[in-house]
Amino acid sequence: MKPNGTNPIPADARARRAEPVVICYPTDTLPPFDRAFYDGVREGMELIDAVTVPPRQGNTAHVPAGHIFRIVSVDGPQVGDLNLWNANDLSERFYSGKTRALHGTHLGVGDKMWSTFPSMRPMATIIGDTLDWYGFDADGGSVHDVIGTRCDPYTNNLLTDDQYHHCCHSNLTRALADAKDMTLQQAEPLVHDVMNVFMCTGFTHKTHQYFMKASPVRPGDYIEMFAEIDLLVGLSACPGGDCGSEHSSDVVTCYPLVIEVYKPTADLGDWQSPAPNKYDRSHGR
Ligand SMILES: [Zn+2]
Repeated sequence: MKPNGTNPIPADARARRAEPVVICYPTDTLPPFDRAFYDGVREGMELIDAVTVPPRQGNTAHVPAGHIFRIVSVDGPQVGDLNLWNANDLSERFYSGKTRALHGTHLGVGDKMWSTFPSMRPMATIIGDTLDWYGFDADGGSVHDVIGTRCDPYTNNLLTDDQYHHCCHSNLTRALADAKDMTLQQAEPLVHDVMNVFMCTGFTHKTHQYFMKASPVRPGDYIEMFAEIDLLVGLSACPGGDCGSEHSSDVVTCYPLVIEVYKPTADLGDWQSPAPNKYDRSHGR
C-alpha cells in the first residue's frame, strides 16, 4: 500500500499526473477472435470425459488439441484454481502474468491463455462463459481473474503460523503428482499461478488491495475453452468455497467442480495448433 507522501508536492504535479494513459500491450495486431470457427467446432461436440474435483481437493484431465473443455459448477457456488500444462512438455505452462498484461485482470470470451517463455503461444481460447453478464460491479470486482496467484500454505503460514494442507497450491501439487506418477517434490515446482475460475475479485478503490467477494456462480454455470495444444488441465476446488468470507481453512462450505471434455465432430478444416513463439532467442549476442 502507498503511505501518505512525505516529500513536497511539485508545482507541476497536476500536469504530471494528467499524462495520457497508454495501453502497454495493444493486442490489435493479433488475429481477431473467430467466433464463427469456434461456434462451428462446438456444434455436435460429444462428451467423452467428465472428471470430478471433490471439495478441497485437486484433479486433472487430459484435453487433446482441438477438443473443448468446460469447468462446470455443480451442487453449489464454488471457486476453482486452474493450471494448464502442455501435456507433452510440462515445462510449458500457463503464464498468468503475461496473460494479464495482454488481456487485463479478468478473462472473458475471446481471450487466450498464453504459455510461458520461450513457447509463449495460446494454450487455450475462452469460447463460452455463462457469467459473461456480470461485467464489473460497483466495487470494481469481476470473475475469472489472473491476479490472485492461488491460495497456498506458505503465505498462510506466514500470516497465521498455521499448517494447512488443502490450499489450492497443495491440491494442485497432489493432483499433478498423481497424474504423472511424480513425487510431491517433483510436482510442486511445476504448479504455477492460476486463473481463478468463477472467483469474484478486484482491487479496492481506496487502497488498491486485492479483495474477494462471494462468487455469483450457481450450479449449471460453466466456462468453456478450446484446447489449442494438447493439455493437461489441473483444477482445485478452493477451500474458500464461494470465497465470500475466508480461504485457507476448513471453515466454509465447499462443493465439487466438474471438468467436462468434449470431442468435436465438426471438420476443423486446416486448423492446427499454434507454433511456438518465433523470437530467435539470441538475446543480442
Ligand atoms: Zn484456493
